[in-house]
Amino acid sequence: MQPLLTPGQQELVDQAGKLADVFAERAAVHDRENTFPHENYEDLREAGFLRLSVPEELGGFGAGLPEILPVLERLAMGDGATALAFTMHLSPLGQWASVWRRTKAPRLAEMLVKAREGDLVWASITSETGLRNDITDSKTSAVKVDGGFELTGRKSFATNSAVATHCSTTARYEDADGGPRLLLCQIALDQPGVTIHPTWNTMGMRGTQSNDVELDKVFVEDAAVVHSLPVKHLDARVLETVWAWAMPAFSAVYTGIAAGALDWTVKSLRQRGKTGDPVLQDVIGECQILIEASRALIYRHAEEVTSRRLFTGDVQDGVARCSMVKYVAANNAVQVMQRLVDVLGGMSYTKALPFERMWRDVQASTFMPMGNLATRKLVGANVLGVRTLPEISPDETGHDSRAKA
Ligand SMILES: Cc1cc2nc3c(=O)[nH]c(=O)nc-3n(C[C@H](O)[C@H](O)[C@H](O)COP(=O)(O)OP(=O)(O)OC[C@H]3O[C@@H](n4cnc5c(N)ncnc54)[C@H](O)[C@@H]3O)c2cc1C
Repeated sequence: MQPLLTPGQQELVDQAGKLADVFAERAAVHDRENTFPHENYEDLREAGFLRLSVPEELGGFGAGLPEILPVLERLAMGDGATALAFTMHLSPLGQWASVWRRTKAPRLAEMLVKAREGDLVWASITSETGLRNDITDSKTSAVKVDGGFELTGRKSFATNSAVATHCSTTARYEDADGGPRLLLCQIALDQPGVTIHPTWNTMGMRGTQSNDVELDKVFVEDAAVVHSLPVKHLDARVLETVWAWAMPAFSAVYTGIAAGALDWTVKSLRQRGKTGDPVLQDVIGECQILIEASRALIYRHAEEVTSRRLFTGDVQDGVARCSMVKYVAANNAVQVMQRLVDVLGGMSYTKALPFERMWRDVQASTFMPMGNLATRKLVGANVLGVRTLPEISPDETGHDSRAKA
């Protein structure tokens, strides 16, 4: 059962499908060898997909969330690792494009044009061992120097760092006026002081090559500090740029892996002449229903972002809503894989077949932000009317967010 898409969405999904089928052929090798699928990225580049979310006025395809999400899902049906790596480029560019449409900020236009030209590939590198990746604080230090800051720290899970030219990252500016602030900065990955350590050796999502990145006195000019907020605050701009885009994007990727596994299982059952078995029909039906339930929430969310309704309420409610989409999609994907194991038996367990890789890849979904525990806690607190952190509301946020006294 395919999603019912608009002609524009369908055209992009068909293109993504051609790429995904090729990526599927290559996925086993990258999984086994623990290598980044550089040739997939070249195919994405050649197909123009690296400028998918660049606005049409700036020479891109102008894809927003409703177009990006089915593309990510279809790519993930072939190879989840490539789709997740691509997300780290596509999603930030989409965020900038939506802000640029409202503000026409020259710096954003410049970056989007660079991306269109293929001179800019993005990554979002904020995770640190021992600190929840909720964009409220950082163990990386930012020290004020002439014209900017020097960042020192170590980041983990740097997906897409194998091909990215630049990334966004976070650091804590301890000595800021009025108390410590979290800086959201943009850095070039080839600049002095940046070292990528080949630490990635995981159970699944191996092709993402999400290695550690060490920052040693990395200089960030003032203009590249794109946002700052007091630490341990929920900020309206972080909701709009990070949570609103990353959560549905991750959701689409993990839904795509599960949809790919279902598709593969259905083909296998057809080949073996087993489609008439009512027990198997029950399982396949249940899996399809779980996937459709995820899609329903993902696309409801996309509509709430596009219409900007998500940004009219309070910030905690908005972050809880974003996290809930990812929670449902991740847990439904895990459940789909488990139910398909019941159907496939030993075929699910052999490295000779692709299902086993998909099964492992999906396991990353529930602890990627916002993780299961954190989401349930946030949603529960929100429903109960408990404030988890102080908020910076839409009229208080900005380049330099401050709560009104
Ligand atoms: C395949 C993959 C790719 C990734 N790519 C990127 C990337 O490109 N950039 C990036 O910055 N990060 C990336 N991440 C990392 C991600 O952002 C998270 O930081 C990471 O998955 C969480 O790691 P952790 O379990 O070490 O962290 P923690 O956040 O420390 O979580 C540990 C566990 O504690 C739980 N927990 C326990 N008690 C509580 C509580 N009271 N409240 C809330 N939670 C609690 C959490 O739910 C979680 O399950 C990626 C992760 C994966 C799996």
